Amino acid sequence: MGFKNHLGVFTDPERVLIDARFLSSLPERELRSGFAEIIKHGLIQDAAYFYSLSSRSDWKSQDWPTLIQHSVRIKQAVVTADPKEQGLRRILNFGHTIGHAVESHFLETDEPLLHGEAIAVGMIAEAFLSWKHTGLSAEALQLITHYLLDVFGKVALPLQEFPQLLDRCLQDKKNAGKALQLALLSDIGAALPLVHLTLTDLEESLHYYMEQTLELP
Ligand SMILES: [Zn+2]
Repeated sequence: MGFKNHLGVFTDPERVLIDARFLSSLPERELRSGFAEIIKHGLIQDAAYFYSLSSRSDWKSQDWPTLIQHSVRIKQAVVTADPKEQGLRRILNFGHTIGHAVESHFLETDEPLLHGEAIAVGMIAEAFLSWKHTGLSAEALQLITHYLLDVFGKVALPLQEFPQLLDRCLQDKKNAGKALQLALLSDIGAALPLVHLTLTDLEESLHYYMEQTLELP
């Protein structure tokens, strides 16, 4: 229990039908959770997309059908280029190594996080690692951090449970039997699929997250 995505299968759907009208039936928190993946698509593949998302003062005021179509295209292009997830496709995992650990942790509490809320934490932490290891500029790190905190708020991670959180990062199926490898950003809109890191790096990134203060508008 408490684990997510420890099993996986490779099966393509015959067809994907998306009707954005159903979005209006979603609670705002669920919509925001899905929005985390849209932000991720901009961060890993499309800088202009990210800047256009983050320039809106209200995250909800988006042209959702257009965003979904664009995001599906990005994901499809990445998956088609690497169907068995051997390299490039790993960039879709940006924010998810730490994000899944955070998500698993909160699943065992009375206040579970939605997937996207945990991934937002992961993207901030992994943007920090990108600044430290793969050339993301300090300016870009700051922009990503502020934007994600602005949309998702700040989650209180219990510092005393960091070792367990990190242990969960290692149990992430994407790292099974392998060295600790994360998808990191080299710039906004550009990602590297397999960057070797240590547990100390990950711990440092969680501290970076916790040091951020939430500036309410
Ligand atoms: Zn996800």
